[in-house]
Amino acid sequence: MSYVILDLEWNAAYSKKLKKHINEIFEFGAVKIDDNMQVIDSFSMLVRPSIGKFMNPYVKKLTNMTFEELRSAEYNFTQVLTLFAEFLGDSTLLTWSTSDLLALLDNQQYFSGEGKLSFMTSYCDLQSYCEHRLGVGSASRQLGLSTCAELMNIEHSGEQHRALADAQLSFLCMKKIYRKPVFDEFVEDTTDDEFYRKLTFKTKMITDLKSPLVDRSKMFFDCPECGVRCVQKTKWNVKSRCFKAFFVCPECKKDFAGQVFVKQKYEGIVFSKKIVRPNPEEKEDSGSTDNS
Ligand SMILES: [Zn+2]
Repeated sequence: MSYVILDLEWNAAYSKKLKKHINEIFEFGAVKIDDNMQVIDSFSMLVRPSIGKFMNPYVKKLTNMTFEELRSAEYNFTQVLTLFAEFLGDSTLLTWSTSDLLALLDNQQYFSGEGKLSFMTSYCDLQSYCEHRLGVGSASRQLGLSTCAELMNIEHSGEQHRALADAQLSFLCMKKIYRKPVFDEFVEDTTDDEFYRKLTFKTKMITDLKSPLVDRSKMFFDCPECGVRCVQKTKWNVKSRCFKAFFVCPECKKDFAGQVFVKQKYEGIVFSKKIVRPNPEEKEDSGSTDNS
């Protein structure tokens, strides 16, 4: 059993073919490790750009690289990907968050039209494993690699934001909290179409009150002070990301605004609620008891 931790660097490039920007990968960096957490091999290659004509100044500053260096790289994306696939072999592929994997998929789709990474048989999102083991991170706030390293007192001396150095840093984080039985639960079989449906699913906020996905029976609030079910005082107001209405507690008479967020995730519909203290100028429409 072996693992390959891959990190990619990319540059936003405008594609005339797609009439939009694509994150064009310019560097692959990876380490191969065995299940005793020993590094057994590494991979580091630059990709000669085919789409971009210059380096985004932000990326240039971050990576300390120039576009000229990339232009003199020996291989293009398809060639580097073929070499990387050989390096991966039957190891489980790991990346820090799925964004690198999505970039890899996007680039492959662009250059070969192939919608799956057929050389890969299993995958693990190392970020979600580390978040789980450290008990941090949430849907709205994800654990960055350097933050994770700091939390674990890992010193990183390598060049940051270069692919191989970031892959090595990801490895040091993994090594510190690796427990095979827990880790195995995070490894996904990628030979199934389901894996790609989940990977490419875009979470969206539902803001249409008439949508059948919005279960009105869940849109209630209990008083934060005394726990009693509150009375809705205004109609649901559709905001950019949520539904909002005013409520009053029949016991303590405290009033507040209730916000309901309805998220359509791959796993299904997720409801979340937030109580907001009243803002005097927003109360002009209170008094209506119609909650249709
Ligand atoms: Zn109350």
